[in-house]
Amino acid sequence: MQSEFDHIVVGGGSAGCAVAARLAERPGASVLVIEAGPSDRDIRVKVPFGLVNLMRSDTRNWKRETVAMASVGGRKVPVPRGKMLGGSGSINSMVWFRGCRADFDAWNLPGWDSATVWRAFDAVEARMTPARLPHPHPLSETFGRVFPANDPGAPPSPERQSAGVFHCNMRDAARWSAADGFLRPSGATVLTGAEVAQVTFDGARATGVQLRDGRRLCARAGVVLSAGSIESPMILMRSGIGPGNDLRVSGIDVRVDAPLVGANLHDHPGFGLHFKGAGSGYGLTLAQLPAWALSPLQWLLNRSGRLSSNTVEAGAFYSVSGDDAPDVQTHFLPFLMGWQSRSIIWGAGYFADVCLCQPRSRGQLRIGHDPYAPLIDLNLFGDDHDLDMMVKGVTRLREILATADFGTRRAPEAFPCAATTGDALRSIIRARAGTAYHPVGTLALGGPLDEKGAVTGTQNLWVADASVMPRITTANTNAPSIMIGWQIGGHVAAAATRNAA
Ligand SMILES: Cc1cc2nc3c(=O)[nH]c(=O)nc-3n(C[C@H](O)[C@H](O)[C@H](O)COP(=O)(O)OP(=O)(O)OC[C@H]3O[C@@H](n4cnc5c(N)ncnc54)[C@H](O)[C@@H]3O)c2cc1C
Repeated sequence: MQSEFDHIVVGGGSAGCAVAARLAERPGASVLVIEAGPSDRDIRVKVPFGLVNLMRSDTRNWKRETVAMASVGGRKVPVPRGKMLGGSGSINSMVWFRGCRADFDAWNLPGWDSATVWRAFDAVEARMTPARLPHPHPLSETFGRVFPANDPGAPPSPERQSAGVFHCNMRDAARWSAADGFLRPSGATVLTGAEVAQVTFDGARATGVQLRDGRRLCARAGVVLSAGSIESPMILMRSGIGPGNDLRVSGIDVRVDAPLVGANLHDHPGFGLHFKGAGSGYGLTLAQLPAWALSPLQWLLNRSGRLSSNTVEAGAFYSVSGDDAPDVQTHFLPFLMGWQSRSIIWGAGYFADVCLCQPRSRGQLRIGHDPYAPLIDLNLFGDDHDLDMMVKGVTRLREILATADFGTRRAPEAFPCAATTGDALRSIIRARAGTAYHPVGTLALGGPLDEKGAVTGTQNLWVADASVMPRITTANTNAPSIMIGWQIGGHVAAAATRNAA
C-alpha cells in the first residue's frame, strides 16, 4: 500500500465514513481511512439481533469502562464502543433520531443552526434511509400507542410528548451502517487492524499519523480524527495536545496546552425497569425454544422472526419537569433482560428504561500512566438534579406502563419492583444506573476546536465525531454523529480545494 495520501481519516465509524465520502468527492483526491478494528463483514453485524453477541466480543468492542466514580459510590460503569468498520454504528441498536431543532440552536455556533443542520440530515438520510422497524413484537406496538395523539406509523418525536415504534437504519431487515451508506460507495482506501498512536507534525502543521506498530503514513492535505468521544481525545493527548499538567505527568511533551481536551464528558444516564412473566415478551422458556431454533432460518429465508429485532423496538418522549419539551426518553425492549451479572436469564418479559435527555452532570476523560487506557469519569449524578429527574422519570414511566393495553402479556415489575419508591428508589438508581452508551463532548466545538472542527493551535488537523458536540442531543446520537461527519467533512474538503487553488 502507498504511504502518502491527500487525506487521512482516523476511525472508520459512524462519522468517519461520512467524512471519507465527503473528501472522496474532491476530484482526484486520495483518501485513506485507518480503522483499528476489523472489517464489518460478519453475519452478527448484519443480523439485527446479532448485536447481543457483538457486545460480548473482545475484537469488535473496545469494552471500555469508567474509573471507580466517586459520584456513584465508587462504581465502574461499562462504556462499550464499536471496534470495526461502521464503529459503534456496527454494534448499536440502529435507532434513528435527529434530535431536536433546539438542541442545535442551543449550540449557538455559526453553521450549526437547526436550519443548516436539518439540510445536512436530509443529505445523510438519503443514504441511510431510516424506516420503521419491520416486524415489531405486539408489546412494542402496544407501547407505541401509550400516547394517543401520535400519527400511526410515525416514530416518537423528541420535540413533543409522543410514543411509537422506532425508525431504524436497516435495509431488508439487515443493518445498514455508515460503512454501507458512505464508506463503501466512496472508493476511499481502507486500512483495517491499524491503531493510530498519534498525529505527526511539521511545526504546527499535521503531516500524517504514526501507527501503534511504528508505521508512518502521510497526509498532504491533513488529518481528520473520527475515532469517537473516547479515542479521539486520547490520540490528541498522545500527540501532545491536551491539559499540560496531565501530559507532563504521563511523560508526553506538550505541543499545545489545551485544558479543555477531555473535559465536558457527558452521556444520557439510564435506568431500566425489568418485567418478568410467562406469556409476555421474548425470552428463554421451553415454550419459546422452537421459535428460537427456527429464527436463523426465518431471517435467512424471509428476513422476519425474532432475529430481525434490533431489541430496542419502541419508545417514548415525555416531560417530568413540567416543561413542555420532553426531558425523558424511554426505550422499550420486548425481551426479558437480566438485572444481575448475566444479561440473559430464563423466563419471558420486557424492559423499559428512563434516560435523561439533557443531563447537567459533566465528567472528564484523562490520560494516565498508560497512554492507551483512558481514565473515563462520567461523574454520573454528580449534579443532584439528574438523580431527582431520574426518580421522577421512573415514577412517571410506571404510570405510563400501567396505561398500556398489554392485556394478558402484562408482567409484574421484577426489578427493582413496584414497591421500591422514594429514597429506596433514589438509592437503587445511584447504585445501578448506567448510560445509553452515548458519550459526547470531550472535544467540543467552540472549546478545543473551532466551529469547523479544526484543532486550535494546529494546522491541517480536524476532529469530526460525537466528541465535538458541545451539548448532547435530546435522543440517540448515531444520526447526529453521521451528520457531524458529513458537515465537517465538507469543511475539510472545501479548505483543501481552496489551498490547492
Ligand atoms: C451498544 C451501543 C448501542 C447504541 N445504540 C444506538 C442506537 O440505537 N441509536 C443511536 O442513535 N445511537 C446508538 N449508540 C450510539 C452511537 O452508535 C454513537 O453515538 C455513534 O456511533 C458515535 O459515532 P462516532 O463516529 O463518534 O464513533 P464510532 O462510531 O464509535 O467510531 C469510531 C471508530 O474509530 C475507531 N478507532 C478508535 N480509535 C482508533 C485508533 N486509535 N486508530 C484507528 N481507529 C480507531 C473505532 O474502532 C471506531 O470504528 C449506541 C452505541 C453503542 C456502543
